[in-house]
Amino acid sequence: MGLYTTEAVVVGYRDLGEADRILTLFSPEKGKIHAVARGVRRPRSPLMAGTQLFSYSKFLLVEGKNLDSVSQCELKESFFKIREDLDRMAYGAYFAELLRLSTRECDKSEEVFRFFLKTLFLLEVWEDLPLMARAFELKLMALLGFAPQVFCCVNCGEKRMENAWFGSLSGGILCEKCKDRDEKAIKISKETLAVMRHILKKRYEELAKLQVNSQIKGELKKVNLDFVLHQLERKPRTLRFLEDISLL
Ligand SMILES: [Zn+2]
Repeated sequence: MGLYTTEAVVVGYRDLGEADRILTLFSPEKGKIHAVARGVRRPRSPLMAGTQLFSYSKFLLVEGKNLDSVSQCELKESFFKIREDLDRMAYGAYFAELLRLSTRECDKSEEVFRFFLKTLFLLEVWEDLPLMARAFELKLMALLGFAPQVFCCVNCGEKRMENAWFGSLSGGILCEKCKDRDEKAIKISKETLAVMRHILKKRYEELAKLQVNSQIKGELKKVNLDFVLHQLERKPRTLRFLEDISLL
């Protein structure tokens, strides 16, 4: 039975039995880790503070045959500004689900971990949450190697386009000449395309002040979600929730 320590963010959980909880942690060294926190739902459990959703903690874990277990944890950051705001909670839950669905134990864990931690810090202060979701989706996909090609036609390489279409199946934009190659391609305005390029080029924290009109936001949402759902091949549960409460 091996013991190991790691810092990690809690990106998901489900209750187990009467007092336990299975956590999904995201760590810099191992990416996703599933670990059981025994007795965590009992009052005064020493594990409670450090194992809540979004908690960034240092964990002492015991390797198990099927599932590791949490022996100790020390809270580093609770992100209470997210937790006390229902809208921010709902978006955070969506970001965490996207992360869980799109990552395995991967060699880019360190980079993805830093990115997600930065996302949580930004989620405490970002004003336009739907726009933040668009930035998160594009940046996460890019980090995992699935960035859509938005700088030239994905089929012929044409850079100068009067009109452009976005094809999730093709993985990027198509010019007038090539648009019929992807029958599900969506027409996209120059302005929306410029915002997508801006998001992919700029640093995450520089985008927190970005403002765009509602038409661009609507178009960006349509294109992004089409692309993300195509990549994931399923619809995240938390996205339905955001839609149900009309936040998106
Ligand atoms: Zn083309």
